Amino acid sequence: MRRPVVDPEQCIGSATCASVCPEVFKLDLENKSSVLPGVDYEQYEKKIEEAIKLCPVAAIRWEEYQTQEYQSGEF
Ligand code: SF4
Repeated sequence: MRRPVVDPEQCIGSATCASVCPEVFKLDLENKSSVLPGVDYEQYEKKIEEAIKLCPVAAIRWEEYQTQEYQSGEF
């Protein structure tokens, strides 16, 4: 399985991702984008791909993870 991740060092808070896919991306109090937990990311694959493409600093990427890791809260 995979999920999107945002590099907070790169994110400049443009909010493009949150506009394109508010179901997955949300800006935090420091104006950095974060990925909402517990979302069926595959369901929003097209919108996430769009956010990845439109991010001005290429801060978003896909990351593979094991279902067990997700369930045990290791990330
Ligand atoms: S589009 Fe990129 S730079 Fe803009 S808020 Fe999202 S991750 Fe940050």
